[in-house]
Amino acid sequence: MSSSPIPFVDLRAQYLSIQDEIDAAIASVIRETSFIRGPHVAVFEESYANACGRRHCIGVANGTDAIYIALKMLGVGPGDEVVTAANSWIASSETITQTGATPVFLDVESDFFNMDPERLKAAMTPRTKAVVAVHLFGQPAQIDAIKSLCDEHGAHLVEDCAQAHFSEFEGRQVGGFGAAATYSFYPGKNLGAYGDAGAIVTDDDDLAARMRSFARHGASPKDKHDHIMEGVNSRLDGIQAAVLNVKLPRAKEWNARRAEKAERYLELLADVEELTLPKTRPNATHVWHVFSVRTPRRDEIRRRLSDAGIHTGIHYPTPLPLLAAYERLGHRPEDFPIASRNSAEFLSLPMYPELTDDAQARVASCLKEALAG
Ligand SMILES: *Cc1c(COP(=O)(O)O)cnc(C)c1O
Repeated sequence: MSSSPIPFVDLRAQYLSIQDEIDAAIASVIRETSFIRGPHVAVFEESYANACGRRHCIGVANGTDAIYIALKMLGVGPGDEVVTAANSWIASSETITQTGATPVFLDVESDFFNMDPERLKAAMTPRTKAVVAVHLFGQPAQIDAIKSLCDEHGAHLVEDCAQAHFSEFEGRQVGGFGAAATYSFYPGKNLGAYGDAGAIVTDDDDLAARMRSFARHGASPKDKHDHIMEGVNSRLDGIQAAVLNVKLPRAKEWNARRAEKAERYLELLADVEELTLPKTRPNATHVWHVFSVRTPRRDEIRRRLSDAGIHTGIHYPTPLPLLAAYERLGHRPEDFPIASRNSAEFLSLPMYPELTDDAQARVASCLKEALAG
């Protein structure tokens, strides 16, 4: 076993495996000067809509804008409440505030760390305009129950699929349950561009047209100088689309390799008592954006791994409602016992399709050693 550092993600290894195609794709964008809009973006939007099984895909600048644009065009605004989960990235909630609505945070399921439908039921009010359901770490939320509750209460469902490209709930791909689903192609995501990029998919023709227009300064589809509303500037650019066109056909294969790595970690770490391993929901396909174990000694263990050259992550160190950004809401850790426990104990291990057997064995043995020490 070598003792070179093990990164948390290795974007270079993936680039080297497809270097010729990537370089050619980027060169063609430059040669054609199709930097904004153009054929690469059009091809990607069509291929991604197909890959998701949806009628429309709107390429946008990043996954955060995708959520904001979807909520805004669903009519979310001041006076509304939008419910989301306490364990997520701040994009899931800051976009709610950006529309003028108030984020309502829910504690999460104990085993799967996603929105808890029982808690959602209790949190629904006449002001609940929408729900942002996150599929955290690549594991689907209990999206059928969440969708039923949204329908009962007349609330829109937006799926935040930034960590869950092509994951499945009971044989159905996530991203097809709500009014719209949003994706991030941040470089480290399961499908990553070489810069910021994102997309929204939907089956609703009218919503698609409004979102497309809003993302392009409110331009009418026929004339870019005819503004039918004020919007924002949020475009997927040509170079990112060209990179994504090379990577998209391989994305499911890369997810399958992540699943193999996850299985291997689960075997290697099965007998480690002080460690709580991630569980997969029955009838779900987890795409393992993040492989997060739990230990009450997280910070100490993380330091020891780092000393051994093993880089780990924490997703995320503070539940959203307890961040300084939400001080105004007056939440306390006791309001979110599971999310607070998770934030104190989560430790994300190196996870990427090119992770080697050797590296995984080293991670496992260092982890065991650290826990024994
Ligand atoms: C990455 C991420 C986003 C935002 O994506 P960006 O492309 O970085 O704006 C939104 N939600 C979740 C859960 C994410 O992990």
